[in-house]
Amino acid sequence: MSYKELNLETLPLPDRFFIDRFRKKIIEWGKKNFTPFPWRTTSSKFHALIAEVMLQRTRAEQVESVYRQFEVKYSTIKKAVNDLDGVFSLLLPLGLKWRAKKIVELIEELHRLGEIPSDLKGLMRLPGIGFYVASAFLSFHLGIRAVIVDNNIIRLYGRLRGFKTSPSSRRDRKLLRLADLMTPKRDFRIFNYAILDHARLVCKMKPKCCECPVKYLCKYGQYILKNNECETSLGTEKIITHN
Ligand code: SF4
Repeated sequence: MSYKELNLETLPLPDRFFIDRFRKKIIEWGKKNFTPFPWRTTSSKFHALIAEVMLQRTRAEQVESVYRQFEVKYSTIKKAVNDLDGVFSLLLPLGLKWRAKKIVELIEELHRLGEIPSDLKGLMRLPGIGFYVASAFLSFHLGIRAVIVDNNIIRLYGRLRGFKTSPSSRRDRKLLRLADLMTPKRDFRIFNYAILDHARLVCKMKPKCCECPVKYLCKYGQYILKNNECETSLGTEKIITHN
């Protein structure tokens, strides 16, 4: 049996039954596997926002030590704005010089504003803040529901529903609609952490389908199961074929 990816445009959106099962399983998994990165537990909105920019295109594990140094050295925006050269040097080991420059500009702008905006538009007007960072900050640190879609999450949704993805999928309206449908109204924070962690640890480039909590809902997971690639880990659950 070969695996064929479809076009998202021609696929129906999932029904309520599918959405509820997916959310439940991802949230259950997420609660057990939550990774307590320091920016997730900080009470400083300044540090949390800077961390979200550091995390762009960089693995969380790589960001951790630079973030910890930043947190200790620059406890306030004022301390950071008084040492922008130091901030820039501290960020360089993360790579992406343009991002270090953007973070410096961001600190200057936050200092000028005197506060951190608390809505999507206001956040997206800041240097270095795009839709993903603004949504992640709102959802994780301000308790405002927002849908998060990064490349790992796009990959996960593509496999789950069996459609082709590309770098431009991020701007695909139907994909954004799918991500919006999947994101709960109330438990969005734990769901968003869970889906990020799942896409990082399980549905990664080389997915660990056999140990995945949504393998029975997932088009690619079903392909793996039907090819008996998880024989030893098959449970008693039935494969769900609903949309
Ligand atoms: S079954 Fe595999 S492809 Fe599907 S969501 Fe899980 S890890 Fe990803």
